[in-house]
Amino acid sequence: MTTTLTSEDPAATALTPAISLRGLRKSFGDVHAVDGVDIDIAPGEFFSMLGPSGSGKTTVLRMIAGFELPTAGEIRLDGADVTREAPFSRDVNTVFQDYALFPHMTVLQNIEYGLRVKRVPRAERRTRALDALARVQLEAMAQRKPSQLSGGQRQRVALARALVNRPKVLLLDEPLGALDLKLRREMQVELKQLQRDLGITFIFVTHDQEEALTMSDRIAVFNRGRIEQVASPQELYEQPATAFVAGFVGTTNLLGAEASLQLLGSQGAHALRPEHIQLHDAEPDVVAAGVIHARGTVSEVIYLGAATHTIVDLDQGGSLIVQRQNDSSAQPERAGQRGGTAHLTWQRTHCVPVDAAV
Ligand code: ATP
Repeated sequence: MTTTLTSEDPAATALTPAISLRGLRKSFGDVHAVDGVDIDIAPGEFFSMLGPSGSGKTTVLRMIAGFELPTAGEIRLDGADVTREAPFSRDVNTVFQDYALFPHMTVLQNIEYGLRVKRVPRAERRTRALDALARVQLEAMAQRKPSQLSGGQRQRVALARALVNRPKVLLLDEPLGALDLKLRREMQVELKQLQRDLGITFIFVTHDQEEALTMSDRIAVFNRGRIEQVASPQELYEQPATAFVAGFVGTTNLLGAEASLQLLGSQGAHALRPEHIQLHDAEPDVVAAGVIHARGTVSEVIYLGAATHTIVDLDQGGSLIVQRQNDSSAQPERAGQRGGTAHLTWQRTHCVPVDAAV
């Protein structure tokens, strides 16, 4: 028996992406800022767009918001084509990096502003604004002006101002960029919890790979206006599809075609994470099947607190970064000192073939 899904059917709704981008392009003169992007984002997903400065993330976000018209392609929100719709008729809200708060208004007035424009009655406005303020734990600051708040508090007001509209989709453009590292980490956890509680689809732009890994359900890695890979944080880290992704997400050793042939006897480039390499000061007596062995000289030892990175120049040319956790049981080894001979071993299975044609 075949079942037909109607639009009222929950199963059919679940299949409709919250956002769907097809063949999206944007050129500014001869700059191809966005050069053919296809993405489907599920309802309730925390989706990040990650990439270096100038890779096109913000332009994609601005096209979803309606602040920029695409040169080509299509944008669908909840199945409806909004490519040419004005920003205010799209069910999305944006939180900008600079928060864009009105300095002369109180926190409460800032949050109510959008509802006032939409002519929501005063009593409902107040209730919804106070509710949004409670969501970001800032009830006590309602009567303050933005200048009387810390950076983190201003960030929360900007968030409340977007949440008060109860959007289905929230677009966040480097919203934590202006905060110091400690506050940034705290806000990452808060933001993720808030998103989970509210069930809103979040599209989050960042150039900080650690931030994207911490918060996202899935991440799209951008490079020169195109997407290199869309995957979960774990898949992106453990199975990078390209040399660019391997290098941009976490630290990696890239074995080019020649090094791969010499060390692994395999064709094509490979990525090898530093934590998968073991460092020994003596040559191993037996090298088990499936294990690769290479010899070299330690050129640099970099202490990072929880871990140490040791850079080893291989006898056959090239160098590898090795990561060791600094737990109390780790024995100091000669091989870990600059100028010392180092023997490296790793499992062949940890070498991930990557597309190096970037
Ligand atoms: P960042 O992390 O620095 O914000 P990004 O990945 O968000 O970078 P975009 O801001 O989308 O990158 O910019 C992509 C490219 O388009 C860049 O080369 C940028 O200079 C160019 N660009 C963006 N907006 C305009 C504009 N209004 N006019 C001309 N060029 C633009």
